[in-house]
Amino acid sequence: MKKRVFSGFRPTGKQHIGNYLGTIQNCISLQDEYDCVYCIVDIHALTTLENTKTLQNDIYDMALDWLAAGIDPQKSIVFVQSHVPQVMELYSLLSMVTPLSWLLRVPTFKEKVKSQPHNVNYGLVGYPVLMTADIALYKGEVVPVGEDQLPHLEIAREIVRRFNSLYGFVFPEPQAKLTSFPLIVGLDGSQKMSKSYSNYIEIAASPEEISEQVMTAVTDPARRYRSDPGHPEICNIYSLHKIFTPSQAEEIASECRQASIGCVKCKKMLARNISSALEPLREKRAALASKPDYITEVLADGATRAEAIAKETIKEVKESMNLLKRGRA
Ligand code: SF4
Repeated sequence: MKKRVFSGFRPTGKQHIGNYLGTIQNCISLQDEYDCVYCIVDIHALTTLENTKTLQNDIYDMALDWLAAGIDPQKSIVFVQSHVPQVMELYSLLSMVTPLSWLLRVPTFKEKVKSQPHNVNYGLVGYPVLMTADIALYKGEVVPVGEDQLPHLEIAREIVRRFNSLYGFVFPEPQAKLTSFPLIVGLDGSQKMSKSYSNYIEIAASPEEISEQVMTAVTDPARRYRSDPGHPEICNIYSLHKIFTPSQAEEIASECRQASIGCVKCKKMLARNISSALEPLREKRAALASKPDYITEVLADGATRAEAIAKETIKEVKESMNLLKRGRA
């Protein structure tokens, strides 16, 4: 029996190369070793979204990018959180065993209180309980996390432990699979690549779009003239060359230091290499997008498989909590 991995991802629409080189590649690599459950957590998104106009498209685009990149719906369960309503039931039941004090001390809750003081909703406080319900509903045993997410998983473990000690063993304690996601710096050269900072390249971008975006990227700020020697170690174009032009990276660094290559030529080379690395993904994406209802069907199938597990878990939970069974079905 393979262990079950659970991972949830907010619907962020079209994915960028930072998502691709970190999270998506990691999810692809887990598919053979584990029984993977990948969930697009639209209900979580509602804790910070005040406008849901783009939500459906964001889910669609994200799923399309993931499947084009190599998440295989035959191997993994891929679905949308709200399509399996049992998660809300488990969320309510787990909230009864979760002391409020645990939730109020969560650092991300405190950050959100500061960043969205006009919208400190109940869902923000309950976020870790919903996250626990996501994992526990599918009896997730392994959760891939970066070091910064360990405190969240620790709360999930505490909630599960408390439930098991009050009502008997139902849930495995999820274990962290510490994953080092490469830090991909955005085109501004100073912050992580992110949609929030508008410093990203979408994985489905056309060669022209990639070229346009790369040409705007910040390089070594000390290299003001073509004849100035550069410092590749502080240039983000160079860090992307190490990923997309690995066989020539040393040569590029040396040419940059000697000012024998200019930034325009260096960027054009990078744009070409990013574009050709992503070409198979772009082609697969276009092929999948041309099939009417493909994504809808994959997500519906994922929800059916996920719900079958969820129903079993809820039955077990209610029995262990000694809730009275409904007399007539
Ligand atoms: S030549 Fe390339 S690596 Fe050197 S500063 Fe310019 S863009 Fe960066």
